[in-house]
Amino acid sequence: MTTAAIDTPDLETRARDRMQVPKQPEWPALGDAEKTALKDRIKQLLREQNAMLVAHYYVDGDLQALAEETGGYVADSLEMARFGTESDADTLVVCGVRFMGETAKILNPEKRVLMPTLAATCSLDEGCPAGAFSAFCDAHPDHTVVVYANTSAEVKARSDWVVTSSIALPIVEYLHAKGEKIIWAPDKHLGHYVQRMTGADMLLWDGACVVHEEFKGFALDRVRRLHPDAAVLVHPESPDEVVDQADVVGSTTQLIKAVQSMPNQEFIVATDAGIFWKMHQLAPEKTLIAAPTAGEGATCESCAHCPWMAMNALQNLEQVLRSHDQEIHIDEAIRQRAVVPIQRMLDFARERGIGARRDSD
Ligand code: SF4
Repeated sequence: MTTAAIDTPDLETRARDRMQVPKQPEWPALGDAEKTALKDRIKQLLREQNAMLVAHYYVDGDLQALAEETGGYVADSLEMARFGTESDADTLVVCGVRFMGETAKILNPEKRVLMPTLAATCSLDEGCPAGAFSAFCDAHPDHTVVVYANTSAEVKARSDWVVTSSIALPIVEYLHAKGEKIIWAPDKHLGHYVQRMTGADMLLWDGACVVHEEFKGFALDRVRRLHPDAAVLVHPESPDEVVDQADVVGSTTQLIKAVQSMPNQEFIVATDAGIFWKMHQLAPEKTLIAAPTAGEGATCESCAHCPWMAMNALQNLEQVLRSHDQEIHIDEAIRQRAVVPIQRMLDFARERGIGARRDSD
C-alpha cells in the first residue's frame, strides 16, 4: 500500500484558525398553530414562484418534511446536485450550506438559486481558500486534482474531478488503476480513509469537518461496550480511530440504508444529528444512539450538529422567498470551468449506476 503523504501547504495562516464557527442560531420556538401557518405561507410562495425545495439530511426535520410535502427532495450532496438538474422548477431553494447552493447554480445557470441564508458555509470550504489551493496544485503539476464537493466554486474550477462521499472510492479506484497520482482536498480524514481503502498515491490537504472531527475513538469504545449488539455507523469524515470501530462506513445515504437493511435493533451513529430525522422516518422501530463527542480531547464546537446547517430554518426560508436577497451568483468564467469536473462525476455515476436515483430510492 502506498504511504499517504500528508502535505500541509505553507499557508499564510491556517484557514481553520481564521474561521469563525457560529453559535447555534436561536430561532424563536413556534407553537403548532404558528408553525402550520408558516409552513402554509411557504407552500403558497413555492407554488406562486414555481420554486422547489432541495434539502440536505443534516438540516432541521421541519425543512426536510416540508421539502417532501411540496414535491421537493431530501438527499445527500450527490443526489441534491442530480435532482436540481432534473427539476423543471424556475427556482431552486437549497436548504443546506453554501457549496450546495453553488453546485446547484453551476449545474443550473438558467435557474434562480436561493438559500435561507448565504452565511451557511462549511469548515471544509472555509479551510481551503482558492488562492492557496491553486498554488498547492501548481507545485504538483503531475497530480490529478480531486476535490470534495464541500469546496467553493473557485476550488472546483481548479480541479479535474469533484467527488462526494458517495462516490469518492470508485472514482479514486478508477484513477489509481490508471496510474494517476492524486491531490485530494480538503478533508484529510476522508482522504486518508480513501487512501487506505484504495492504496492510491494521494497528497492530502489539511482540512477537517468541525462536526465529524469531534467524534472520539475512546468515547465511542465506551458506548459500544454499553450497547454490544448495536451496529456502529460512521461517516468517513470522522478520524481514523472512529472509522476503525465501524460496522459500516459510508455517505449519509449509505448510512440511512444501513439502518433500514441491517438486522440490528440498535445503531450508534457517528455523523451529524440531523440525519436522525430521515432514519426515524424510514426505520421507526430502530433505536438510534448518537456517537459521543464530549470528553477528553473534544472541543465541542458543534456537538454533532453542524452550526451552519443549523442556520436554515422555516423563518428565514419564508424571508428569502419574499425578498430573494439570498441568491447565489457565480462568475460565468468560473462556472464554466467548475461545471466540467462536476459533470465528470455525474457522468461517471450514471455510467456505472452509482447512487440512488430519486425514483428508485
Ligand atoms: S457537517 Fe461538516 S462537512 Fe458538513 S457542512 Fe457542516 S462543517 Fe461542512
